[in-house]
Amino acid sequence: VKPAAFEYYAPDSLDEGLALLADFGDDAKVLAGGQSLIPLLSMRLATIGNLIDIGRIDELVGVREVGAAVEIGATTLSATVERTASLASTVPLLARSTPLIGHFQIRNRGTVGGSIAHADPAAEYPTVALTLDAELEVASVRGRRQIPAAEFFNGFWSTALEPDEVLTSIRFPVWEGRCGFAVREFARRFGDFALAGAMVAVRVDDDDRVDRCAIGLMGLAPTPIRATAAEHAALGESATLDADQVGRLAVAGLSEVPGDHHGDAAYRLRVGAHMVSQAWRAATEEALA
Ligand SMILES: Cc1cc2nc3c(=O)[nH]c(=O)nc-3n(C[C@H](O)[C@H](O)[C@H](O)COP(=O)(O)OP(=O)(O)OC[C@H]3O[C@@H](n4cnc5c(N)ncnc54)[C@H](O)[C@@H]3O)c2cc1C
Repeated sequence: VKPAAFEYYAPDSLDEGLALLADFGDDAKVLAGGQSLIPLLSMRLATIGNLIDIGRIDELVGVREVGAAVEIGATTLSATVERTASLASTVPLLARSTPLIGHFQIRNRGTVGGSIAHADPAAEYPTVALTLDAELEVASVRGRRQIPAAEFFNGFWSTALEPDEVLTSIRFPVWEGRCGFAVREFARRFGDFALAGAMVAVRVDDDDRVDRCAIGLMGLAPTPIRATAAEHAALGESATLDADQVGRLAVAGLSEVPGDHHGDAAYRLRVGAHMVSQAWRAATEEALA
């Protein structure tokens, strides 16, 4: 399996890359780690005339603390996230979900921005971004704009990015206070995409009541989604509320659950509810500890 012929460009600066994208219009794509794009091209599920490799643009790499957030440059490798010790305390969901992404070979090439721009509904980083209400910065020759994660994912492998735009960085808010975080997912084999998964961030007040929470679901819709009904039901309640009930509520009413030979929609819903319960229990225990 070989891709159809394409022209390859490796700009040294963002401006140069943006100018190339603007020139080529629909017949160009950004290449980051290539871990999703290259298989698609190689299997000829997609063809593209021009690949703009953004891997040599220094300003797109790095992990920086900016006020009450951590900003990750779009081409920062998953492996870098894994090795950045501070993220374990500043953005625990990011740190804890990274080892669940494929295998280390994938994480050594795949990028944070590439995963979010690819927008697989079962991928970890899009779900972290949505769960934590991350802000995505994108750039084009027309200028820069910020997109809240809640407005970024449009559908399966589809985002709010225009063809001439590059995702440049992602800002993950840092939660302060008595917080707990957990990621739970189920995959048939280690390293596979999850059949279903859940991420929970929770904060409790001095009376051990939930005063902030976010529940993200993976693999249960065409995009990563938030379980808003379950979040609202939990707010103000004791953090020891019934985790199984949170799980059931989180998946209630989901109508676009994918199904295939790995598991039909009903199975994924049951798994999803269970993952939410487990993640809720773990996150609240951490917050109360
Ligand atoms: C065997 C295997 C197992 C995997 N398992 C998992 C898993 O369990 N969980 C998981 O989350 N992922 C998994 N992945 C996917 C992996 O995480 C990819 O690295 C990731 O989805 C894409 O990142 P990338 O940097 O390689 O992007 P690329 O493959 O280079 O690009 C992907 C898409 O995003 C676009 N793009 C990339 N960067 C930008 C940008 N900055 N701005 C605009 N558009 C951009 C590209 O044009 C392309 O359309 C797996 C991949 C493989 C091959």
